[in-house]
Amino acid sequence: MSKLSTRVTNMATSATLAMAAKARELRAEGKDIIGLSLGEPDFNTPDFIKDAAIQAVNDNYNSYTPVDGYVDLKEAIITKFKRDNNLDYKLPQIVVSTGAKQSLANIALVCLDPGDEVILPCPYWVSYADIVKIAEGVPVEVKTSIETDFKMTASQLEAAITPKTKMLWYSSPCNPSGSIYSKEELRALADVLAKHPQIVVVSDEIYEHINYVGAHASMAQFPDMYDRTVTVNGVSKAFAMTGWRVGYIGGPEYIARACNKMQGQITSGTNCIAQRAVITALEAPVSKVKYMVDEFKNRRKLILDLLSDIPGFQCNEPEGAFYVFPNISHYFGKTLGGTKIENATDFSLYLLEAANVATVTGVAFGNPDCIRISYAASVDNIKEAMKRVKEAVS
Ligand code: PMP
Ligand code: GLU
Repeated sequence: MSKLSTRVTNMATSATLAMAAKARELRAEGKDIIGLSLGEPDFNTPDFIKDAAIQAVNDNYNSYTPVDGYVDLKEAIITKFKRDNNLDYKLPQIVVSTGAKQSLANIALVCLDPGDEVILPCPYWVSYADIVKIAEGVPVEVKTSIETDFKMTASQLEAAITPKTKMLWYSSPCNPSGSIYSKEELRALADVLAKHPQIVVVSDEIYEHINYVGAHASMAQFPDMYDRTVTVNGVSKAFAMTGWRVGYIGGPEYIARACNKMQGQITSGTNCIAQRAVITALEAPVSKVKYMVDEFKNRRKLILDLLSDIPGFQCNEPEGAFYVFPNISHYFGKTLGGTKIENATDFSLYLLEAANVATVTGVAFGNPDCIRISYAASVDNIKEAMKRVKEAVS
């Protein structure tokens, strides 16, 4: 008998975290690795947020917190949802968690029974499929391609629905493709869902503010979808707070209550100091952190320009987030520097070895023709990395 559960044995390791760990390991061995694998702003958390945390330490915030978050943080989240998304939530509809990743895990654990199907438009964020599987749900991948800007169409959604479909999960702006669903595109999906009232939607909006085209639409803004949509968000990306571990949801009260119950048995409430700092972050005008978005926008242009000069990299123009997701299938079946490239994983590993550049295989995002490159890195690192990649594939 195995000493470990089938659950963990069958689970994939998070490819983003694994690649980041591998890059760290190689760096420790003295290799000059440029890490473009992890989706993590290279900015420091802004000072006004750090000051709030220091104040919280000095004010002796050190006790257990309410499982679903401090009331004044939940109030700040309610104000944020109204201000940015025109969504009206009440206190029992909000749950604060240890990162949006925990928010997603809570949702899966409280909504899914064994065999329930969850539709995941591909490419999807790396952890969706495995979180669904941990909850014994069945991920149903809907393939998309560059031709539709990696977005799922209404007819694809319709075709994927079965009597077992329980949920649809997507991110917009999307990690990894950077694509953004317009209000019209979401409405077209909502029209399909209108015929299937049992399906609950998870709208992951963690890249909401990292948007280069302007409009952000939320599924819950449609009155007929409000009661069946869980809106997931967090502070990791827009506020450069990945390590602080705070995410949150707004959604139907029955789901929020269940998440509260689940979290109460697993982690309890989120870290007290981080929660106090997040109140300050969310209460600030978004313009206070726009300098980071402006910088990501410059880097997006830079990396797209540099990639357009490397043969065999076919890119969409990402509208948000900080990733490019080039199709590199041109190299499949070819030999580069003595290494036979059969798939995106081989290609990503080849770049790590030959160019000392860490990327993530598209396999982990449900798209085996692509790799993900994060441009949340310095201009110098992006330039040097693309130079090395170009050399490694020529
Ligand atoms: N959703 C998406 C689409 C993400 O890219 C990430 C990455 N961090 C998360 C959720 C989880 O974020 P957090 O750091 O809040 O757990
Ligand atoms: N969301 C980031 C990424 O996609 C962080 C890594 C993770 O949480 O898996 O790279």
